Amino acid sequence: MSSSTVENYLKTILRLQSGGDGNTTVGDIARELGVTPGTVSMMMRHLKERGLVSYVPRRGLSLRPEGEAEALKVVRRHRLIELFLVEVLKLDWSEVHEEAEILEHVISDRLLDRIDTMLGSPTRDPHGDPIPDRNGAIVRDSAVPLVEVDAGDYRVVRVSDEDSALLGWLDEKGLTIGEEFHLTHSDRTAGILELSKTSGKRVQLGIQVAGQVFVEAV
Ligand SMILES: [Zn+2]
Repeated sequence: MSSSTVENYLKTILRLQSGGDGNTTVGDIARELGVTPGTVSMMMRHLKERGLVSYVPRRGLSLRPEGEAEALKVVRRHRLIELFLVEVLKLDWSEVHEEAEILEHVISDRLLDRIDTMLGSPTRDPHGDPIPDRNGAIVRDSAVPLVEVDAGDYRVVRVSDEDSALLGWLDEKGLTIGEEFHLTHSDRTAGILELSKTSGKRVQLGIQVAGQVFVEAV
């Protein structure tokens, strides 16, 4: 079993655990990774043997503390690499995720420490996601998906990093991290939201997009 495969499973379980109701299943992981449930079950037995997950077939699974610590290390590498690529190598925020998906499995601790120091031990990546510190502590925020809020004033806290086209579109509309706007209209039935920027510019967006932008009230 390659270590990058193991790391991707741990990272996926961590994401599902923190995003959902805490009850992660083999089916959830299979869907997320685009593999068969049989493949996931086999991996869960392997991770259980290594003491990284608790797993009872057909009952459920969760990360054990050792597995969670490993997963947080991968997340830390991913997010620090993304920030390094944007801040130092001047890549666009829409093109760093794919690179980080590769580099997160190969970068040495020494190089990562150097990047962390150089960037001043940052706590957020270019997409606003919190960077776990070297002990695995992570800052949680109370941001909620834009699609769930009522009309009012908000600030963009973080956005999903996986869809490069979405990131390009948000950039074009000026909906980047820290931007403030007024949500004027939210019609969930029609699937359309409208907001106005401080510049007065109006932006319309669909529910799909609004589900990937996380905001807090200002
Ligand atoms: Zn990413």
